[in-house]
Amino acid sequence: MTDETLFTKIINGAIPCDTVYEDEHTFAFRDINPGAPVHVLVVPKKPIARLTDAEPADAELLGRLLLTANKVAQMEGIAESGFRCVVNTNQDAGQTVWHLHVHVLGGRALQWPPG
Ligand code: 5GP
Repeated sequence: MTDETLFTKIINGAIPCDTVYEDEHTFAFRDINPGAPVHVLVVPKKPIARLTDAEPADAELLGRLLLTANKVAQMEGIAESGFRCVVNTNQDAGQTVWHLHVHVLGGRALQWPPG
C-alpha cells in the first residue's frame, strides 16, 4: 500500500510519461488523453491534493505553477496564438486525479465557456 499519487509516480519515473519540462519544484508532461493539439499537465512536486487544500505557505509554489505553464506555452509555440490554463477542482469540475495540476491547452481555437 502506498499513499503516492499517480502524478508522484509519474514524477518519480515509476510510470512512464512524455516529459515536457522539469525544475526543482514543478513537472510538466503530456496528458495521456489530449483534449487539444497541445495538452500538457503542470504539477507541483509537492503533492497538494486539490486547490482547496492549498495554504498561504503554498503561495510561491502556486505562482511557480503558472510560471511553468507560461514556459510550457512558450516551448510549445502556443503563447502568441493563445492557450488556456485549467485547474479542475472537486466533483463538479470533474477532477479525477488528486494531485493538483494545471491543464495547459492550446493549438486550436478553444470554445468558451467550456461545456
Ligand atoms: P483532471 O480530470 O483530474 O482535471 O485531469 C486529470 C488528467 O490526467 C486527465 O486529463 C487525464 O487524461 C490525465 N491522466 C490520467 N492518467 C494519466 C496518466 O497515467 N498519464 C498521463 N500522462 N496523464 C494521465
